[in-house]
Amino acid sequence: MSTNTLSFVYQSQPTRVVFGRGASDTVDSEAERLRLRRVLMLSTPEQTGLAQKVSDRLGARSAGVFSGAQMHTPLNVTQAALEQVKSLDVDGVVSVGGGSTTGLGKAIALRTDLPQIVIPTTYAGSEMTPLIGETVDGVKRTLRDPKVLPEVVLYDVDLTLSLPLGPTAASALNAIAHAAEALYAPDGNPVVSLMAEEGVRALVEALPRLVEDERDLQARSAALYGAWLCACCLGACTMGLHHKLCHTLGGLFDLPHAQMHAVLLPHALAYNAPAIPDALQRLARATGAADPLVALRGLSALCGLPSSLRELGMPEAGIEQAVQLALANPYRNPRPVEGPALRELLQKAWSGAPA
Ligand code: NAD
Repeated sequence: MSTNTLSFVYQSQPTRVVFGRGASDTVDSEAERLRLRRVLMLSTPEQTGLAQKVSDRLGARSAGVFSGAQMHTPLNVTQAALEQVKSLDVDGVVSVGGGSTTGLGKAIALRTDLPQIVIPTTYAGSEMTPLIGETVDGVKRTLRDPKVLPEVVLYDVDLTLSLPLGPTAASALNAIAHAAEALYAPDGNPVVSLMAEEGVRALVEALPRLVEDERDLQARSAALYGAWLCACCLGACTMGLHHKLCHTLGGLFDLPHAQMHAVLLPHALAYNAPAIPDALQRLARATGAADPLVALRGLSALCGLPSSLRELGMPEAGIEQAVQLALANPYRNPRPVEGPALRELLQKAWSGAPA
């Protein structure tokens, strides 16, 4: 038995969560609960049809659809959406889609304090966090502000059925990364660790079933449940090397967000491995494998995900640039972030060598 005594801070989030098949059908009653009269629907161009359907459910409460959301929340898109917010005199926003659309809703909330209802359709997890990443003049900055935390999240399993296997798997690995880093976060706590372990377990069990059948409803339900738990971990804890590296590489080379997480996760965990025995033990339990790194890599391969940053379009010459940028912005990590070891990590991740 451990002789360590516990010491931690735990802050629960105020977001209301409605989970299940058809959860998005409650959007009108949820808007009523928030006393919203005129809401603006948000989506990417690809999900305009879905946004229109949700808008129809809102009936007279919908003031219109803005379907210009883009990855990395570029400021010019936010400004265009804010013009609609003003001209339509809306009192809330409903975001339906992945992290990009949620990001736009948050960017609006940051500047207006308007309430948000979010209907996530990927496993990225932004909906449960007070974090926002915005791109201004090609530079992505992240900030934490309780104003951007959504009031209501409707997790509708049915809306995840259309996500193809590749993005599904990448997004699931993105979610697992939130949980993995929460297990060794400086501000982690026992509740978050329980959520992290359960979230990883649910996603790891669901993915092979989704490889067999993308539309397996039980597996989709388990995956979304796991993604929610992992999202709570991201919202509650400070992330380490893995998330900071993804941020650096995403900003420098505009790499696809979820796929980059999937490639880097085993490498970041291998880097930290000597310093995180408890986290690795929990991950081993959650993945049902003696070596969770091997399990995660195997899962990526099973789902046909890219295994190298090279495949994602990162130039080899960019490794040194990324190392220098990562070293220039120090942050807390279980193992000190040092040049030679970081270079080796990135070289392996770039070429697709085992972690
Ligand atoms: P995304 O939102 O960019 O979606 C990718 C594509 O998939 C889009 O074209 C989208 O319309 C489409 N799509 C989404 N759901 C679909 C579905 N069910 N069926 C068919 N197509 C669907 O990708 P993402 O990975 O969800 O989000 C990435 C963005 O979210 C990044 O900008 C990242 O920085 C941000 N993010 C932020 C946080 C945070 O806490 N602030 C957390 C995670 C991710």
